[in-house]
Amino acid sequence: MRAWTLGSGSRGNAILLESEDTRVLVDAGYPPRTLARRLAAIGVVPQSIAAMIVTHEHVDHARGVSAAQVKWQWPAYGSAGTLRGIAGLDEARATAVAPGTSFAIGALEFTLVRVPHDATAPTACLVTSSRTGFRTGIAHDLGVVSDGLRLAFAALDLLLVESNHDEEMLRGGPYPPFLQERVAGRTGHLSNRQTAAWLREMTGPALREVALLHLSETNNTPALALASARAALGGGRSARPLHAAPQDAPAGPFGATPGARGAAGQQFALAL
Ligand SMILES: [Zn+2]
Ligand SMILES: [Zn+2]
Repeated sequence: MRAWTLGSGSRGNAILLESEDTRVLVDAGYPPRTLARRLAAIGVVPQSIAAMIVTHEHVDHARGVSAAQVKWQWPAYGSAGTLRGIAGLDEARATAVAPGTSFAIGALEFTLVRVPHDATAPTACLVTSSRTGFRTGIAHDLGVVSDGLRLAFAALDLLLVESNHDEEMLRGGPYPPFLQERVAGRTGHLSNRQTAAWLREMTGPALREVALLHLSETNNTPALALASARAALGGGRSARPLHAAPQDAPAGPFGATPGARGAAGQQFALAL
């Protein structure tokens, strides 16, 4: 399985997943014109995408969903609460999925996992390749790491996770107090420190690669987020590739490094 971020942050989010001949978009927080341009930059035609998963209805994740349905007829999947919150959704091409239940789209199997965030029914997304068993976890916006998410994201090969803000920069930055509280609160966004704490728990042998998502342009820098996560992953001793996804350009593929592929293959062989 390979993953690209098409852009990540408060101005828009979209992640492309690919396994075998199946391509699925997780979130469509850009208008179709921008999605098409970013997809073209990684050599993907929109018509080759089978479906989109929407993690929650905030505009930076769902802005392009309805327009993409019109333009490319992509079916949309998400929690019932998320789908209800998307204006102009083509309900004939929308499937509500209960968090915790698995569903397949081509060669990919998905499970949505409820997360604490200030949307109607926000979710993270666990994706498994049906052929290799490669497991990718995508956790975009969340205020705290819940026990349910910890459990669901055990033994991932690839993790794409929010690392939104540096706590000191947020406290000393230009956001008014109510907004600082919202961002730092239990239904806001993960700080570099919170993400690092979770990464420390997850440094089992399976985890091969990490990409940091949704970095604040006001209250964070890629250098701070990367340093915090790198330390959690074992500092310079860790050979795990670590990335910070940019807001305005595609990045990836993640999960495609020779080490990651070899390891996934090996695990599969052992499982047989
Ligand atoms: Zn967001
Ligand atoms: Zn959000």
